Amino acid sequence: MADVGLLLEAANFACIKHRDQRRKDESKTPYINHPIGVAYILWKEGGVTDMATLQAAVLHDTVEDTDTTLDEIESTFGVEVRGIVDEVTDDKSLPKAERKRLQVVNAPKKSPKAKAVKLADKLYNLRDLQRCTPEGWSEERVQEYYEWAAEVVTGLLGTNDILEQKLCDILKQRGVTLKTS
Ligand code: NDP
Ligand code: ZN
Repeated sequence: MADVGLLLEAANFACIKHRDQRRKDESKTPYINHPIGVAYILWKEGGVTDMATLQAAVLHDTVEDTDTTLDEIESTFGVEVRGIVDEVTDDKSLPKAERKRLQVVNAPKKSPKAKAVKLADKLYNLRDLQRCTPEGWSEERVQEYYEWAAEVVTGLLGTNDILEQKLCDILKQRGVTLKTS
């Protein structure tokens, strides 16, 4: 039961932090659906039971998208969760294009736990794009997102066979392939 408490603590923390945010879809889905869904993908589909990974998945966008600091994550969830969240957080002081480039370049250098969170994050976002196109996005922009996601995922391969296969399948539906050497 201690594990249940740890996960609920992360879920409650993320709910409070993301409470005013919405996804980019037309129906403006509450943002919290995303981090909870990423953790659920890891557990349900990826077979991941490591608690630090699941907590980090729930918390993975709190530092990037809210006022949360890494010190706050560490004081509430410990140094390991802090480290994973840090690894999956973009440097928001950089321009968008540079952040996207760095995700591709840095993907292979991440720890296995951070790579697993990133795989589930990309899978969730690609499924969201399949479900509906965000407001104001052209078909070309959706296609660009798939192509960029494939580049990031290529750098994460060798982490979780099931999630990687599902990513490969969803990308293929849009004619995008992973460049596995
Ligand atoms: P992004 O391409 O970064 O938006 C995608 C991100 O938004 C996802 O990674 C996800 O991040 C989050 N997200 C929220 N809701 C959804 C949803 N319903 N479906 C999928 N993802 C969702 O968009 P930005 O606006 O940040 O633009 C980034 C880049 O796009 C720039 O480099 C810019 O140059 C380019 N661009 C291209 C255009 C074009 O027409 N080709 C037009 C404008 C910009 P998370 O996991 O963090 O929630
Ligand atoms: Zn995310």
